[in-house]
Amino acid sequence: MVTNSQLFERATRVIPGGVNSPVRAFRAVGGTPRFIARGEGAYIFDAEGKRYVDYIGSWGPMILGHGHPAVLEAVTKAAAEGFSFGAPTEREIELAEEILKLVPSMDQVRLVSSGTEATMSAIRLARGATGRPKFIKFEGCYHGHTDALLVKAGSGLATFGHPTSAGVTPGAAADTVVLEYNNVEQLEAAFAEHGAELACVIVEPIAGNMNFVRASVPFMTAMRELCTKHGALLVLDEVMTGFRVALGSAQSHYAKLIPGFAPDISVFGKVIGGGMPLAAFGARREVMQHLAPLGGVYQAGTLSGNPVATACGLATLREIQKPGFFDALSARTQQLVDGLKAIAAENGVPFSADSEGGMFGFFLLPELPQNYTTVMTTDKERFNRFFHAMLDAGIYLAPALYEAGFVSAAHSQADIDATLAAARTALR
Ligand code: PLP
Repeated sequence: MVTNSQLFERATRVIPGGVNSPVRAFRAVGGTPRFIARGEGAYIFDAEGKRYVDYIGSWGPMILGHGHPAVLEAVTKAAAEGFSFGAPTEREIELAEEILKLVPSMDQVRLVSSGTEATMSAIRLARGATGRPKFIKFEGCYHGHTDALLVKAGSGLATFGHPTSAGVTPGAAADTVVLEYNNVEQLEAAFAEHGAELACVIVEPIAGNMNFVRASVPFMTAMRELCTKHGALLVLDEVMTGFRVALGSAQSHYAKLIPGFAPDISVFGKVIGGGMPLAAFGARREVMQHLAPLGGVYQAGTLSGNPVATACGLATLREIQKPGFFDALSARTQQLVDGLKAIAAENGVPFSADSEGGMFGFFLLPELPQNYTTVMTTDKERFNRFFHAMLDAGIYLAPALYEAGFVSAAHSQADIDATLAAARTALR
């Protein structure tokens, strides 16, 4: 049997750091990354045959768990019909229609292959539609690895302690205004100073790249009002939260809290591809008309709207619309979060946790943080010990304290019970 260590050693010879996306390398928590051989429902199995309850779910997409029969059937059928044509297919229309039906703030969507592409294109669209250069992003929010967005971007970057990336020129980031998350005063000051030059504000409505930090209602309200007042567009990056925190995504959650709330541009990824490379951005028709081939904002992709990926995404979106799906998923996630809180309290461990739909976060901090600076005050050594104790017990949490967690519809009562039993031992 090949071991994880052997595979990691082999991988590091041919792939930088042995991984194709930095957080997979376990640098933040130390130890050897597990090489995953297969997944089944709520579980993943490593190369050594060890089973883990999976709370990463490919960082969000696997909302149905691994190998859901309906998704598998749709993907197999689509693959047999052809992998890629570079010409339009009916399934792209079906997926666009499905997404638009669930997110009424958009009239049209453009399908792409990754969240990075989608946010990059959304920023270009906002700049093209407004004719303005600057945009606001928030510290700790990650919007993919486009140059202009790699400024104080949390998550994998936070793990490496880089406020930004080498290879990004000052010019590429010169029009990026970075502010503190949940800070209304800074937002007002930035609009007062740059209002006429701002194309958009881009924000994770629930920031999942600094663990799990909600945009407060006053903060979201201020973003909406200031954008409208100054003619800037509000871009909600729902790559992580989309179809994950609610069927209508985070924007439906905020629309309940803020009357009339809607973003101008929305960005999706992860769940809409069901584990295949697929993402999208969309807006009202007037804004989308600026995109090529209709307008002057260029955007394209050889594999955009890929037939196999759209089949996977469609099958996934159909499953999550079944009656009671989100109620059950939310309840299961809530049970996990409540259980962890109770165990931490029993053991006198400072702890806070939150969840929405099938997304959760926990902190070894007495209160839920409101911004990146506070998230960073977490005791990393303690988190890392907890992570490894859980991993040894067969519970696979995100290997960095800056990451959110994900529960799938395949997680059973027994899985939650096993997780809480492991946490009881680990937190002791
Ligand atoms: N936006 C958010 C909120 C994300 O969480 C991510 C990835 O985790 C991205 C954008 C980038 O997506 P991708 O990794 O598919 O390029």
